[in-house]
Amino acid sequence: MEKKIPCLDLKGQHQQIKQEVFEAFEKVYENTAFSGGPFVEAFEKKFAEFCGTQYAIGVDNGTSALQLAMLALGIGAGDEVIIPANTFIATAWGVSYTGATPVFVDNDPDTWEIDPAKIEAAITPKTKAVIGVHLYGQPFDIDAVQAICKKHNLFMIEDAAQAQGAQYKGKPIGSFGEMACFSFYPGKNLGACGEAGGLTTNNEAYYKHLLSLRNHGMTVRYYHDEVGFNMRMGGLEGASLSIKLKYLPDWNKRRQEIAKRYQEEIKNDKLKMQARPAGHCSVYHLFVVTTADRDHLMKYLNEKNIFPGLHYPVPCHLQKAYTHLGYKEGDCPNAEYLAAHCLSLPMYAELTDADVDYVIDVLNKY
Ligand SMILES: *Cc1c(COP(=O)(O)O)cnc(C)c1O
Repeated sequence: MEKKIPCLDLKGQHQQIKQEVFEAFEKVYENTAFSGGPFVEAFEKKFAEFCGTQYAIGVDNGTSALQLAMLALGIGAGDEVIIPANTFIATAWGVSYTGATPVFVDNDPDTWEIDPAKIEAAITPKTKAVIGVHLYGQPFDIDAVQAICKKHNLFMIEDAAQAQGAQYKGKPIGSFGEMACFSFYPGKNLGACGEAGGLTTNNEAYYKHLLSLRNHGMTVRYYHDEVGFNMRMGGLEGASLSIKLKYLPDWNKRRQEIAKRYQEEIKNDKLKMQARPAGHCSVYHLFVVTTADRDHLMKYLNEKNIFPGLHYPVPCHLQKAYTHLGYKEGDCPNAEYLAAHCLSLPMYAELTDADVDYVIDVLNKY
């Protein structure tokens, strides 16, 4: 194929909705509603409905959402928070920014999600919370993690950055933990035209605290109850998100269609796919496969004009930023295996059937 097929291409989607988004931007501009304001509030309302939660709070990015979730739970220096070793690093940043310590546990060898069986051994008297990540768009084992959290009196938080619209046992993710943290980075399933993030919760006290924390610790203008942050969502971002949210169910459906074709039509023993337990309904933010010689497969695909991604090449516990925590190779073998063998196939709603045919055909010939 002459055409290059990347892991993700944002152009098609943004061409489709350009007119509608530009008209909304004009309204934001006319109202000079650039920071927070009615366009953000309108999105928050719709997003809470979408997740089936009482509240949604828009913030400036997903990393801030994680940091604010930790702060709203009162987590800080001296505390520990358990997270999976294979995730985007921001899951750990949210913990570290508060002065608390991320404790990395291994991922399940088949679902690649946080392995509930590894959590209890990592719990200490300092443990305050577990952040489960709905990795690659697929819900983690919420019931198992929640049972452990209940037993040990820990908070459960969802890192839902990759999973807007995913469902667990028929219910939208975002409504299971104390809070759920979302990223609306442009490359996510629901991405703003700009940087943005958000949280959902059913807890009014957390909701009110989060509103204050994101806005300089204010409840009354220029009266600051605590050290707060400037983590508001912008109006242009809010307006673009309201528009994209309308299309998200269709875009997710198309991703699921493509995933189904990959699962059913790629017939190659050299590749392994993410296990899909019943009731864990993925929105396929990424379609990751593993293979024995990843670099060889990458080279083969690149030669055929297919350009997969790597999510992620180094697990969190072995990142240079965390050397001071003293982890070593072998501590989280499944996460390490994934890092060394994973490869993300092209996955976005605008892939044509011919693109998908081609990717499948090339992989079947590998
Ligand atoms: C993208 C992402 C984040 C961070 O979101 P930003 O908006 O980029 O700050 C956090 N966690 C996971 C799992 C992510 O994929």
